[in-house]
Amino acid sequence: MTAPGVQVVWFKRDVRLFDHAPLQAAVAACAESGQRLLCLYIIEPALWQQPDMASRHWAFLAESLRELADDLRQRGQTLCVQTGETVRVLDTLHQQHGVAGVWSHMETGNGWTFARDRRVSAWAKAQGVPWRESQPFGVWRGSVRIRCRPSWGKDWETWMRQPLRATPETLPAAPEGVATADIPAALPWLVADPCPRRQPGGRRAGLALLSSFFAGRGSAYHTQLSSPLTARKACSRWSVHLAYGTLSLREVVQRCLAEVANPLCTSSERRAYRAVLSRLHWHCHFIQKLEDAPSMEHTALHPAMHALRPTTMDADTQARFTAWASGRTGWPLVDATMAELQATGWITFRMRAMLVSVATVHLWLPWQPVALHLARLFTDYEPGIHYQQVQMQSGATGMNTVRAYNPTKQGLDQDPDGTFVRAWLPALAAVPTAQIHTPWLLSEADQAACDCVIGVDYPAPLVDETAARKAGVARLYLPRKEAVFRHVRDQLVVRHSGRGMGSKQPAKPTNAALKKPPRTPEALPLFAALNDDP
Ligand SMILES: Cc1cc2nc3c(=O)[nH]c(=O)nc-3n(C[C@H](O)[C@H](O)[C@H](O)COP(=O)(O)OP(=O)(O)OC[C@H]3O[C@@H](n4cnc5c(N)ncnc54)[C@H](O)[C@@H]3O)c2cc1C
Repeated sequence: MTAPGVQVVWFKRDVRLFDHAPLQAAVAACAESGQRLLCLYIIEPALWQQPDMASRHWAFLAESLRELADDLRQRGQTLCVQTGETVRVLDTLHQQHGVAGVWSHMETGNGWTFARDRRVSAWAKAQGVPWRESQPFGVWRGSVRIRCRPSWGKDWETWMRQPLRATPETLPAAPEGVATADIPAALPWLVADPCPRRQPGGRRAGLALLSSFFAGRGSAYHTQLSSPLTARKACSRWSVHLAYGTLSLREVVQRCLAEVANPLCTSSERRAYRAVLSRLHWHCHFIQKLEDAPSMEHTALHPAMHALRPTTMDADTQARFTAWASGRTGWPLVDATMAELQATGWITFRMRAMLVSVATVHLWLPWQPVALHLARLFTDYEPGIHYQQVQMQSGATGMNTVRAYNPTKQGLDQDPDGTFVRAWLPALAAVPTAQIHTPWLLSEADQAACDCVIGVDYPAPLVDETAARKAGVARLYLPRKEAVFRHVRDQLVVRHSGRGMGSKQPAKPTNAALKKPPRTPEALPLFAALNDDP
């Protein structure tokens, strides 16, 4: 006998059945109550009209949802896809089927998703419908966590080591007569955004990346993660799967821990996997920061840094922004990186940092539109990591060392013979290696000889690199001289890094199995001499 009412699993950025706490809890509630199970995905028009959303995000998500729908079908279930405002969708389902409970993962998204979740919470309370949220990551909600920040690293480790939840073999039946729609290939609110070499969506693609990384691809991760020549293969490439939850972070962390502990692992492999583990820790560390300070999406963490740059753009600034955003700065590595990002949706950490640095230090652009442009281009856009990183790389946190990347030096270091630049900038194909990162230094005759006339075939640099970098850095250091700046910075350090609270050290996970604790980003200046990656 089926009891009246349905248990709803609301899928958001958690497109999988494996290690899915809300699904497991809803199945248990169905078993106890005899109720039916409704697996729901809501296409929210207002969400997809936010300025950080792009059609490449939807394309990845749509592929993942299709695979999820297949997996549910194999277990006798259906993915119910509905389009509309979430409260309305839930309310209609409630009227039709009687929603007995809503189960979902907590979301640390943009300001819009946070406001939507508050509306859902108010609706659920008003209707007397319990809405239970599970943690998707080692990220906690609420002021208690902020106060207890020194224990954050230990909590993270404990959470990551909890047992994984198996995919249910069978699922309770879906209610009859629920309207569902096809999963569209494109959404009408998004402009087309061709990304021909985007990573394919779906859990199977994520699992394949997990296996291949430990089957050899990732064995030199720690030495190959920065250069665009090597990183595409040597990096894990899990980020987009973590962003849409086709892989569970806990399953990824546990796999890394198992590989590090594997006696057959070479010492080099172990170093590589430890380096990845550190970054998986950073993943949550950054998302926790946005959870604790949601205003970081729009406002510089340090008020003095917020006031430093204009937030709107005049015509000159707009022209510099357009040149940067369209890969026409005149610095080959910057422009090649932007072209790669347009076509693939992914670039290395170092190249991300360089794009932000050039935009916000050399070109003195406001970081907010820079962040939005990159958010739309990164298939793996994860608000918690993204806004924090953009603020760090543009000097807006006021807490971190000011860093400015010299794009010519980066070119010589990361792409010494110009292979990467030539691959993405056909105009520079015949430029000799000695000038590939400084084509504007070619004589007129040499420019003509290699079919690359500067100002015609390829732009001259927008500004003088050295002078602009030095001026930008000087502007960023200016407020730091004020005592009040340092006072506010010290308060921010206590609140956001785990330093303070009686502790002189940043909070670190104990991670006894690794012997070496992961490095927190705040400790970076300490480690800069060992390794200049983040
Ligand atoms: C300006 C800027 C913006 C960024 N925006 C995003 C973003 O929107 N989404 C995103 O996932 N990452 C972002 N990063 C962090 C990092 O560049 C990417 O996580 C990484 O390049 C993704 O490739 P991967 O999966 O092969 O990572 P790997 O290098 O193989 O690392 C494994 C995982 O660790 C995490 N990770 C790696 N580096 C970092 C880091 N520096 N901070 C936090 N977590 C990290 C990611 O989850 C990643 O998938 C940004 C970095 C910068 C400088």
